[in-house]
Amino acid sequence: MIYLKGPLIMTAPPSGWAEDVNSTMGLIGLTAIGALSLALNQARVARQHRDDANTDVLTGLLNRRAVFDQFGWRPLGVGTAVMIFDLDHFKSINDRHGHASGDETLKRFAYVLRLNASAAAATARIGGEEFLLVLPKTSEDHAIRVAEAVRIVFAREIMQGADGAFHSTVSSGVSMGSSEADTLDQALRRADQALYAAKRAGRNQVAPLSASTTWAEHPKTAV
Ligand code: GH3
Ligand code: MG
Ligand code: MG
Repeated sequence: MIYLKGPLIMTAPPSGWAEDVNSTMGLIGLTAIGALSLALNQARVARQHRDDANTDVLTGLLNRRAVFDQFGWRPLGVGTAVMIFDLDHFKSINDRHGHASGDETLKRFAYVLRLNASAAAATARIGGEEFLLVLPKTSEDHAIRVAEAVRIVFAREIMQGADGAFHSTVSSGVSMGSSEADTLDQALRRADQALYAAKRAGRNQVAPLSASTTWAEHPKTAV
């Protein structure tokens, strides 16, 4: 049995060394939590700024700068495919259906591109109606099949303009990283040459250009 002596109501704050240690530790704990949450918030804001700087606002894909930052000016390596896509007669879509419908078409293409690219691929909008897909660890055959899938799926898409439904098509140039010293910039130039071939051959098609071949040797490569 416990006998209590004196009043049970505290008339002054508790004091003593244990109470001092308790208050100090509490203060340190609160300060640490405050500092940690501030640091986490700053990291989140910094990450958001970095993401914004790397993202194309209209499509949500990487922008040109981001994709070059990712692959840099270092060698791409053999087995990396670089595919460029350029929407066909896109100016006439703007002219016929309006700029807003043009923007919707760009967003739809970005969606199709992302859908057909593997998780390992980088997808970017590198110009007004120009897109890039960089696919590591692949073969030329597989890269061409991926580009073909993007082309075919996109051609089937139906967009809604103010004056009714319409379709759009895309042309693509595919090039493979060649030697260990081949950079994204160099592979992109070859893909651009192949794209030019696809446009000249009538658009709505994929044209490959291997690193070992030149455009002169490849007068009609569209598949
Ligand atoms: P080609 O088949 O030879 O590629 O012809 P094209 O008409 O697609 O190519 P061109 O370079 O003549 O026109 C591209 C057009 O893309 C012109 C420009 O107004 C339009 N464009 C560029 N950026 C945007 C954008 O963000 N939104 C919209 N709606 N249009 C854009
Ligand atoms: Mg273009
Ligand atoms: Mg175009």
